[in-house]
Amino acid sequence: MRLVLETDRTVKGGLPETAPGGAWMLSGPEEPAAEPTPPPANPETPPPVAGHKVGPIVPIRSSPREESFELRLPPGSSAKATIERLAPDRLAIRLPAAQWVPPEAALPAIRSVETENDGTALRIALNLERPMGVRSVVEGGVLRFTLVRPEVGDGKLAGKVVVVDAGHGGQDSGAKAPGGGVLEKDLNLAMALEIAEQLTRQGADVILTRASDVFLPLRERSEIANRANASFFISVHVNSNRVANSRSGTTVFHHKDDPIGQLLADCIQREIGATSGLPNLGTWSDGKIYASGFAVLRYAKMPAVLLELGFINHATDLRRIRTDDFRKRVASAVVEGLKVFLGDGQNQAR
Ligand SMILES: [Zn+2]
Repeated sequence: MRLVLETDRTVKGGLPETAPGGAWMLSGPEEPAAEPTPPPANPETPPPVAGHKVGPIVPIRSSPREESFELRLPPGSSAKATIERLAPDRLAIRLPAAQWVPPEAALPAIRSVETENDGTALRIALNLERPMGVRSVVEGGVLRFTLVRPEVGDGKLAGKVVVVDAGHGGQDSGAKAPGGGVLEKDLNLAMALEIAEQLTRQGADVILTRASDVFLPLRERSEIANRANASFFISVHVNSNRVANSRSGTTVFHHKDDPIGQLLADCIQREIGATSGLPNLGTWSDGKIYASGFAVLRYAKMPAVLLELGFINHATDLRRIRTDDFRKRVASAVVEGLKVFLGDGQNQAR
């Protein structure tokens, strides 16, 4: 697979390429498709309309896995509403400035709500009881959002089955560095082995889809995880694009329309971005690359992510990717990201 990371800004609901941490636009059937615009609000945001109030957030449905809420938006603000993740357990709704009406009672799954009104924009930060996925839509002037609890069993990484998938292999070299001397399949395997070693040290039960230079069909990679009833599927790749030395950095992909996959991607990329030494290009939906997403993420039945760890055709990235230090830091970031997702330890409280 050759992944090209050029943002197509005409894609409906496109993720801003410069927004690490996974900001996305809300759009619904009654709203025009919004061009991706990175928050926070820019000077083009209309001035506040005097007297407009927003709130309270109203809980509308509750189940063991999901909590749903409604927030009626001020007139004219639907197309400007965004929701983004500030941290695994912290979300923010951004709206044109309005007067905030706080909830009357405690909200399920939400520990606290903080607002910040700078005169042009209102930011409503939701501090969650734990890292959760989120789905949202704006319909008829109402923001409906659902918080989704991941299934985490005992909340410990130790004992979890984790499938680590070194991308490509055998006759499929993956991307090649300029000159052809370095092959993506070899970089992927070295990284996958380091991730496996560090996960094993944490007590996880690691399955490698390949531990040597062999070819595996895409579907078989996910089926290995499905047959093992794995808790996580992590596919390891190195990126490439058309123009050498034009892009640099790391990205974590999740399957489209999968709030739990997106949460896992956010947890892991947050750690990789903080430690890898390469630019943080954020998390991306695989639907931005292919309409049906990536096969390995589509077939995997558990939370699944695909790591793109630097660009093989960027000289700085390639030097960094080939170091032990990079492999150790990325592997340790994967461990930490999984722990944050699981609520294993105090990591999510940072
Ligand atoms: Zn690849």
